[in-house]
Amino acid sequence: MSNQIQPTISGAGTTVFTGAKVIVGDGSTVIDNAVVVVQDGVISSVAPAGAAVPEGAREIDCTGRTIMPALVNPHGHIGYMRGTVCDPAHYSRENVLDHLRRFVYHGVSTFQSLGTDLHGTEIAVRDEQRSGTLDDPDLATLFTAGAGIVAAPSDGLPSGAPFFAVDAVRQAVDAEDARAFVRTLAAQRVDAVKFWIDDRGGKSAKLSPEASHAIVDEAHRHGLLAAAHIYSVEDAKVALDAGADILAHMPRYPAPDRELIDRLLERDVAVFTSMTVQGPTHVDWLDDPLVGETLSQVDIDDLRTRMEARALEPLFDTGETYRRLRENFGILHEAGVRLVYSADTGVFAQLPGLAEHRELEALVDAGLSPLAAIEFATRRSSVLLGLSDRGVLEPGRRADLLILDADPVGDIANTRRIGGVVLAGRVVDRGGLRRRFQAAFA
Ligand SMILES: [Zn+2]
Repeated sequence: MSNQIQPTISGAGTTVFTGAKVIVGDGSTVIDNAVVVVQDGVISSVAPAGAAVPEGAREIDCTGRTIMPALVNPHGHIGYMRGTVCDPAHYSRENVLDHLRRFVYHGVSTFQSLGTDLHGTEIAVRDEQRSGTLDDPDLATLFTAGAGIVAAPSDGLPSGAPFFAVDAVRQAVDAEDARAFVRTLAAQRVDAVKFWIDDRGGKSAKLSPEASHAIVDEAHRHGLLAAAHIYSVEDAKVALDAGADILAHMPRYPAPDRELIDRLLERDVAVFTSMTVQGPTHVDWLDDPLVGETLSQVDIDDLRTRMEARALEPLFDTGETYRRLRENFGILHEAGVRLVYSADTGVFAQLPGLAEHRELEALVDAGLSPLAAIEFATRRSSVLLGLSDRGVLEPGRRADLLILDADPVGDIANTRRIGGVVLAGRVVDRGGLRRRFQAAFA
């Protein structure tokens, strides 16, 4: 760990961050040598040096550092990864909380779990967080879609559930069953509804278009957004026919056609980037010192071995799918489709907190400028979650800051050079968190 900014006990009172270069998070604005004034956890001003500093404020010198908004990730699956292995046997409330802590350690303020909540664990954590009864300030804000919906087993094929969450999801036998389950989700006040259309290359049952339509229709009746898991252009069109608001992945094959693009634009459908879950297959990021701060060398080497053997899953291929995603990103972005940052955290090699930084790198690899990639992962993803209180460094928003020791404008990988994380004006005790993670090393 580099020289960390000293943690603070709370965000109460007035704190001033001076001397840093500030990336506002709007995709373009950068203020060199800025003064950020935070009052009781909320930003009250962001101005160039020379601006008045309130009397009696606590000053935190950030000279030579860069401040950007903390990351907001609207797509992942927590509770299943332990060390570097994603397994249903690992799921527990403690593990869900551990992942929310890992997010904070890596500068992710807000996370949405998309459809793999087991036995209402995440709903309970979220509710306790919102009511204030979960007294732990070092957890990312949790949003959750609760349990998502898949096709029930049929014609000798297993259900459409993702491999790690077979027991978590609802297997819908028909459209009415799916609709009834969405009503149950609405009663739990889920933050979105997730459903899987994709049949995993013909290896699992496929949700019918009628069921997809029923799910989205019922979600909309309850004012909820519906997110569809798709991999192909064909399934993307089924999702659009159903009225889905979000595609949880970019279509991989074939290339997006004009009809698909027009339909995405027509309803401003959000398409999640979800690129790193598919690679790239290089493993050099495992050597980043940040990885070793929260994971044991044994676990890191184990993941490296599995990645090199391409043993994570059959779809985790030789890189062809990643190249396709990168290409399709260009096509969709060029066409003006609303692409939204998504790290699909918690599965395969998507380590909680680290996947978020790799996805930023993938967006730049796909052609975005670093400032644009940061906007995707801060303002844009906040808007998707309906949050106007965070995601941009401007007056009136929460002071959720990622303070970096190196400038990501020249090299996006510098978002991993973390000098401090601030949640609602409080400098998080990253050293304490790191000791807690390391205490659990085998
Ligand atoms: Zn996912």
